[in-house]
Amino acid sequence: MSDIQYRLAQKREILGAFPGPKSQALNERRKSVVAGGVASTVPVYVADADGGILTDVDGNSFIDLGSGIAVTSVGASDANVVEAVREQVGHFTHTCFMVTPYESYIQVAEELNALTPGTHEKRTVLFNSGAEAVENAVKVARLATGRDAIVAFDHAYHGRTNLTMALTAKAMPYKTNFGPFAPEIYRVPMSYPYREESDIKGEEAARRAITMIEKQIGASSVAAILIEPIQGEGGFIVPADGFLPTLAAWAKDNGVVFIADEVQSGFCRTGEWFATVHEGVVPDIITMAKGIAGGLPLSAITGRADLMDAVHPGGLGGTYGGNPIACAAALAAIKTMKEHDLNGRAANIERIVTDRFTALVQELGANNIIGEIRGRGAMMAIELVQPGTGTTTKEVNAEAAKAIAGACLAAGVIILTCGTYGNVIRLLPPLVISDELLNDGLDVLCDAIRAAL
Ligand SMILES: *Cc1c(COP(=O)(O)O)cnc(C)c1O
Repeated sequence: MSDIQYRLAQKREILGAFPGPKSQALNERRKSVVAGGVASTVPVYVADADGGILTDVDGNSFIDLGSGIAVTSVGASDANVVEAVREQVGHFTHTCFMVTPYESYIQVAEELNALTPGTHEKRTVLFNSGAEAVENAVKVARLATGRDAIVAFDHAYHGRTNLTMALTAKAMPYKTNFGPFAPEIYRVPMSYPYREESDIKGEEAARRAITMIEKQIGASSVAAILIEPIQGEGGFIVPADGFLPTLAAWAKDNGVVFIADEVQSGFCRTGEWFATVHEGVVPDIITMAKGIAGGLPLSAITGRADLMDAVHPGGLGGTYGGNPIACAAALAAIKTMKEHDLNGRAANIERIVTDRFTALVQELGANNIIGEIRGRGAMMAIELVQPGTGTTTKEVNAEAAKAIAGACLAAGVIILTCGTYGNVIRLLPPLVISDELLNDGLDVLCDAIRAAL
């Protein structure tokens, strides 16, 4: 992007076989000290990162199409964020907002209340992680409604803490053998247009879920419906038009809190500040994290004032929640998003990615393995199936996803996979990536898809 200054050369460069000697040595050290349960997708260790480039300790430069899982939307060392953090860290690193408060927490709350959908009176609380935000949204919904049941969806991902594991759909690797899980969580069918058995409309898909809620739980027992407006880890599933508005309307009619988990889809990622905006849905509570603070750990829930203020003083909080350095970073990241119109930038990325994949599907013809191109903004994915003309087969092709991601990495492009069936390639580039670098990354990806046939 012409008006963005980069510190590192925005160029992919692989010097030789990797992981190089320094990464290999770090990997050896790691094995004897870091728990094996933490896995890393990429076998190299980072030395620097800026814009769309990540360099490793052996001098290789990779194109980053993952943003540390949708976190560094403004880049991993955005000038505004770096300056704000440096300034704040020289004054105070922590006081605990629950002990001695500070202004930046209030400023972040003001920004979030203004940026989230709806013009109603809102309140905000800050935390550290996405899972913690989800946990607290559930706490507020239960307390405010006096009800217990929480409705979650097939393919959902909400985190790795005990409550959020229960809310997450996929067993391996997130849940298997980590139980027992929190009670009063109910799972209902998602709208997953590509994998529906018939051509079911969004409203009908919502009715299917609502019928299950009414029959199996009873509306008057439901505290909240919790949903990702575009599912992240579950496969970048965009529900059919009308699905979210129908659910939200039913929630409203039944005194059920509608919680949008925008931890991954928020903050310009989809070309709007929040993905619910695309559907004209105004959530009662919205959870945020990932892209919120330019890489610093911060999360938030913003919700209807009457719900949020139902909680007694001291009922919400945490030692680090709304840490002053993270708040300074969030304010700076939001400034960058506005200054560089990163919503517009995300929409531009959607056009580039869609055009490239559409052309590739044409080219592959009878050998096509791209079952669907989907997503919004800079949250785009392809679902891979066995070869066929795309519509003739929907049989999942997880091997291809793995092979393609591996081939991309070998060529210096970091690409993440996702999906309940592991057959989805997702693109989450930093929104500040240049068109040129993005296209270079997509060239590599398209070649890897051709080679996987
Ligand atoms: C990543 C994610 C979470 C969990 O966030 P953490 O910061 O890893 O706890 C929750 N919900 C969604 C939709 C996510 O993508």
